[in-house]
Amino acid sequence: MSTMKTLKPRIAVMTSGGDAQGMNAAVRSVVRTALDMGADCFAIQDGYSGMVAGGDEIRPMHWGDVGGIIHRGGTVIGTARCLEFRARPGRLTAAKNLIQKDISRLVIIGGDGSLTGANTFKNEWPSLLEELVDTQQITLAQAAAHPDLHIVGLVGSIDNDMCGTDITIGADTALHRITEAIDAISSTAASHQRAFIVEVMGRNCGYLALMAGIATGADWVLIPENPPNGEDWEKRMCNIMLDGRKEGRRDSIVVLSEGAVDRQGREITASRLQGILESHMEEEVRITILGHVQRGGTPSAFDRNLSSQLGWYAAKYVIESQPGSESMMIGIENNRVIHKPLMQCVRMTHSCNDAIGNRDFRTALNIRGHNFKRNFRILRTLVRARPHEIPADHQPKTFAIMNCGGPAPGMNAGTRAAARLLLDQGHKVLGIQRGIKGLINDWIIELGWMDCNGWAPLGGSELGTSRRLPPEPEFYSIAQTIERYNIDGILIIGGISGYTVANMINSRRDHFPAFHIPMVCIPASIDNDLPDTELSVGTDTALNNIMNAVDKIKQSAVASNRAFVVEVMGRRCGYLATMGGLATGAERVYTHEEGVTIEDLSADVRDLTAAFKDGKKLGLLIRSEDAHPVYTTDFTRRLLEAESGDIFSVRQSVLGHIQQGGDPTPFDRIFATRLAAESIDKLQALVKDNRDDQLYIGLKNGELTFNPVEDFLRQMDQENARPREQWWLELMPIAQLLAKSEPTVDHAQSNVL
Ligand code: ADP
Repeated sequence: MSTMKTLKPRIAVMTSGGDAQGMNAAVRSVVRTALDMGADCFAIQDGYSGMVAGGDEIRPMHWGDVGGIIHRGGTVIGTARCLEFRARPGRLTAAKNLIQKDISRLVIIGGDGSLTGANTFKNEWPSLLEELVDTQQITLAQAAAHPDLHIVGLVGSIDNDMCGTDITIGADTALHRITEAIDAISSTAASHQRAFIVEVMGRNCGYLALMAGIATGADWVLIPENPPNGEDWEKRMCNIMLDGRKEGRRDSIVVLSEGAVDRQGREITASRLQGILESHMEEEVRITILGHVQRGGTPSAFDRNLSSQLGWYAAKYVIESQPGSESMMIGIENNRVIHKPLMQCVRMTHSCNDAIGNRDFRTALNIRGHNFKRNFRILRTLVRARPHEIPADHQPKTFAIMNCGGPAPGMNAGTRAAARLLLDQGHKVLGIQRGIKGLINDWIIELGWMDCNGWAPLGGSELGTSRRLPPEPEFYSIAQTIERYNIDGILIIGGISGYTVANMINSRRDHFPAFHIPMVCIPASIDNDLPDTELSVGTDTALNNIMNAVDKIKQSAVASNRAFVVEVMGRRCGYLATMGGLATGAERVYTHEEGVTIEDLSADVRDLTAAFKDGKKLGLLIRSEDAHPVYTTDFTRRLLEAESGDIFSVRQSVLGHIQQGGDPTPFDRIFATRLAAESIDKLQALVKDNRDDQLYIGLKNGELTFNPVEDFLRQMDQENARPREQWWLELMPIAQLLAKSEPTVDHAQSNVL
């Protein structure tokens, strides 16, 4: 009888080139997914340097080796730039070192340089092995066991400069650092009425500068892909600053991308810009070059969750990769993980850089894509000191903006963008104060250009908001207010109560002719519990608030063998709990969707006790507030306490309203701005066509789409007040896998390949 040799797959992971926040979460995910699949996983220290050095620089990784790293910036396995690897002799040594460890499957986390290097290595692999055999550095059998080098690349780059993925690992966190810095600079600039130039990273990609400009409400942004037009751009830029001051703006901020050039291709440096601004503005202009702080600090929730997903996919992909397969890049497109031939992405990235070098800016912008261009156009309007002159024959309409439901961070950015974009089209804009109460009680203000200046970074709702639903007699007052102000269209930025108000108005149109006007609802709710949209405004901020609080709680607990039960918001929608759990490495997440049983709780007590006995120092359980009516947070804490004996202690923490507060994250500000821009375009078009559609907007599969407000309830699981479809449920198994105390498979038995 022949015995089949058990082949245990072996992979290695490494980080290379510039470090990026989120690399640790990716490494953790690759290692744990591989181990869970029964593979052996190695880490290569310091990128290609470690590969060329070999020996202990390529070391086996165990489950616990990647514990406690998810919240750390940088990369715990080190990164480097390695000159030797650029030449064949360096790659020959690297190949020998890998073969000696029996490795030919690699997950490489780095920028386009590192990934290009990886592909060259792959292409040369057969000839490298031949040379190693010929020079008797490896045996024929060793070479035969590894006919192919399998490469899977993840893009770690704060610059978001890689084509083929919507976003790279680290870009969101870098944007957090930039936004925090510009918010801080804005307050000192405003105190002294000063102008600042803030230079941000990005190499050939203006993503960070553009997004930071939208998120912070900067006055001017310079990016490599779209230099300012015209001979007199310097004068126009300075006039915007001066006009802004005249209109009452106290600070002037120019965001400069480090790779920015003018139309002639000459570099626009911070000092050149300073000279231009000082000579026109006749005041001192300060320069802040943000530099490496942009690479630093704890990764954002988005980067941790993105990296965890990508790492999981990459490990699976490289383990299952078949002979002859191409090098692949794993990225994200329209909120879904995708893989694409790596070199196709690298080539496209280089063609964008070449286009900028050749001053073919139209091509560069086209390569960046539709959203990039659209964001740039929106920014150009938002930064104006005052709206465009309106032609005399223009017929202005009246639009009203209302915030509804709980305050969701980003509401103000959305309101500001909607107001300015409408004013710029020559319309009258009304702000309805305190939600539906304002429509009932005639609490209406007119919003001018400067009235919402400085709103983008503000949390809460400057207009005021309310969860109230109008009782029947009050619809009459609402109709009267709409008629009194001649309101032609309404934009509602809010949560379920906003949608419900819109739906109530919609269903009473037969009784009130005033209700025959178009309306659009923008999803804004920290709970992410609205239908037909993958995300709501405010959710990202809440998630980051949860993550930051839990990071602190974990730090406090680690010294004392303690388990924490942390309760987060979301009512019966488990989005915050699940994504918060993924971002913080919680070992257990309780949600209403999944349900909680006494068997689950008993198993959790048993697992936790065993893990603490095994040397675990910290336990983290995240519970969605309405996960179960009886097995409450307090119940769970007491149950664990009673069963844990003196092995570990248990505390509970109900995070409460800190989840709703604080400055909105860059994503929430930008997302609110995009939704507002799209919604007001729709509203204007409807008004123009004499239509009275009442709609809600959402983001699905990368598209912004509108749905009739009558559909809202149909798309909801009404009993549980959450959408019927929740895309993120598919992430639960990944979160569960990564947070386990040990792999499931028995390695000795595994036979994946
Ligand atoms: P990033 O990966 O962040 O773009 P680099 O371009 O500096 O950073 O690349 C990191 C490392 O990847 C380099 O130091 C080198 O070891 C390797 N590398 C980059 N480009 C190549 C290439 N064309 N051929 C071989 N190795 C390369």
